[in-house]
Amino acid sequence: MKLSKPKYIFVTGGVASSLGKGIISASIARLLQARGYAVTIQKLDPYINIDPGTLNPYEHGECYVTEDGAETDLDLGHYERFTSITTSHANNVTTGRIYQSVIEKERQGDYLGKTVQVVPHITDEIKRRIQLLAQRKEFDIIITEIGGTVGDIESLPFIEAVRQLRYQLGSRNTALIHLTLIPYLAASGELKTKPTQHSVKALLENGLQPDILVLRADRPLSSDLKRKVALFCNVDANAVMESVDVPTIYEVPLMMHSQHMEQVVLDKLDLPSEQEPDLGSLKAFIEKIKNPKRTIDIALVGKYTELPDAYKSISESFVHAGAVNDCKVKLHYVNSEKIDASNVEEKLGKMAGILVAPGFGSRGIEGKIEAVHFARTKGIPFFGICLGMQCAVIEFARNVLNFKDAASTEMEPSTTHPVIDLMEEQKGIVAKGGTMRLGAYPCSLQPGSKALAAYGTNLVYERHRHRYEFNSEFLPDFEAHGMKAAGVNPESGLVEVIEIPEHRWFIGTQYHPEYKSTVKKPHPLFVAFVAAAVAYTEEQKK
Ligand code: GLN
Repeated sequence: MKLSKPKYIFVTGGVASSLGKGIISASIARLLQARGYAVTIQKLDPYINIDPGTLNPYEHGECYVTEDGAETDLDLGHYERFTSITTSHANNVTTGRIYQSVIEKERQGDYLGKTVQVVPHITDEIKRRIQLLAQRKEFDIIITEIGGTVGDIESLPFIEAVRQLRYQLGSRNTALIHLTLIPYLAASGELKTKPTQHSVKALLENGLQPDILVLRADRPLSSDLKRKVALFCNVDANAVMESVDVPTIYEVPLMMHSQHMEQVVLDKLDLPSEQEPDLGSLKAFIEKIKNPKRTIDIALVGKYTELPDAYKSISESFVHAGAVNDCKVKLHYVNSEKIDASNVEEKLGKMAGILVAPGFGSRGIEGKIEAVHFARTKGIPFFGICLGMQCAVIEFARNVLNFKDAASTEMEPSTTHPVIDLMEEQKGIVAKGGTMRLGAYPCSLQPGSKALAAYGTNLVYERHRHRYEFNSEFLPDFEAHGMKAAGVNPESGLVEVIEIPEHRWFIGTQYHPEYKSTVKKPHPLFVAFVAAAVAYTEEQKK
């Protein structure tokens, strides 16, 4: 950190949701980082859930887990993948969390008999949370993304908190970036600016004037159109940026840089811009993504296959690992509920690799076990993550160890072979929110394992999100028949990684490696899995 006090950037969205505020925020962070500033990003979500841990992935996509065990919005995954800066509990705050704190304080009598209201009490708590990251004295610039769309009832207290903060911190210490949509009307052949004008008006009604506008569009915008938007919205012409669809999200920082985004931000924040940004490694990475030498097919077997966002970190990890291996990974989302012994060959037979995804509950579980069986017996590279690893253990127990009713007690509480069982410390917990084994734990990798070969180091820290575990009581049976504990928690002895050494590549991890794959540091297990899939494809050709 080089500034004595951090500066703040707020990112809001208008006109429509899903315009990519998270990607824009992450891109700006990446550019400011390239200019030598220490940056962090936080997301404020207007919904009332305390965190997205209890949400069905179909609601908001994947739940991303931080190093310190926060269950957060999937945008935090983009922040980490773009910048390699780790996030924490403080980087994602919901309306539910804000109200919870205020209500707890009220119950403790902290408000000394005053009437507790949205303004100032809720807005004060929002401002406190926004500034919490400043206490770490690590960051020059704190970017705060406000979830939802301006004009929503739920966003109002957040917008009001931003208005107060901008006033209190002074105009040179904050910047407001507003992202909107410029729709193209095919019937009249025109791009329309009116929704943007209305959305800026909605901000103005709440006392906020944006400094920078980012216009999402499906095609390039003329300078006339941008000038018109600038004029109607009181924004400098050079502060109106376009964000057109690009082949890969990792190009967005470059697209923003070509329009001088970070320079405009630095000027607005009165910050010097000594250092020319070095974006060479990002450019090289994009080149690799855009010009792959080959394409390989990998199946992602899960039950949330209708919404690819449910597996965002996994699909991005494959983008990173593909770049390292000079290949494009074509992911096939295969619904595990539709897999059975009669069709598994047809659904998975042509795949170069099979990944069985994380998940909860019994729906689709037998299809996942069938997919594992297919990968194991056909020698297809296999990667099981969390529930995927548990399915690999169950499949091996049923078909190799001959424990016919082997199961996880999550699905079959009365099985006589609980090869996956509830952790001791989980017994007796009834509350669902934030009560799993969450966040980073150490794992020591066994000599000679493929996992150790992939990581190249014997002690790793990986992030968890689960209640059930490999039941070590059965470990001697598994090891005697060819499934090994390749990674073990050095403190608790829990089995974290399983492998079948005789198989070409068969690894299951109780943890989620996908949360730690970034552009700068593609995850070693994904890199090794893709390499195995490439090698397998080559062998098949012979
Ligand atoms: N449902 C399993 C458990 O709680 C796996 C969780 C997961 O895949 N994230 O242990």
